[in-house]
Amino acid sequence: MIKSWCSTLMIIDMEECGICEDCIDVCMEEAITKKAYKVIIDPDKCDSCGECIDVCPVGAIYEE
Ligand code: SF4
Ligand code: SF4
Repeated sequence: MIKSWCSTLMIIDMEECGICEDCIDVCMEEAITKKAYKVIIDPDKCDSCGECIDVCPVGAIYEE
């Protein structure tokens, strides 16, 4: 598995992620950004609400 940056709870599996940016759009905390073909969660902004997990069409985001 290739892991993107993760917070204490949220992980994005970049082998599954299609970089659709749906999670970026849904995150009210603006904690998710795209950088150099990776989707990154800022652990300082993420409040672990789980919205990004629900919206991801390929199930690439999960809680550790
Ligand atoms: S869990 Fe919530 S706050 Fe954290 S990255 Fe996902 S949508 Fe944003
Ligand atoms: S919603 Fe899922 S597939 Fe889309 S960019 Fe986010 S992690 Fe990747």
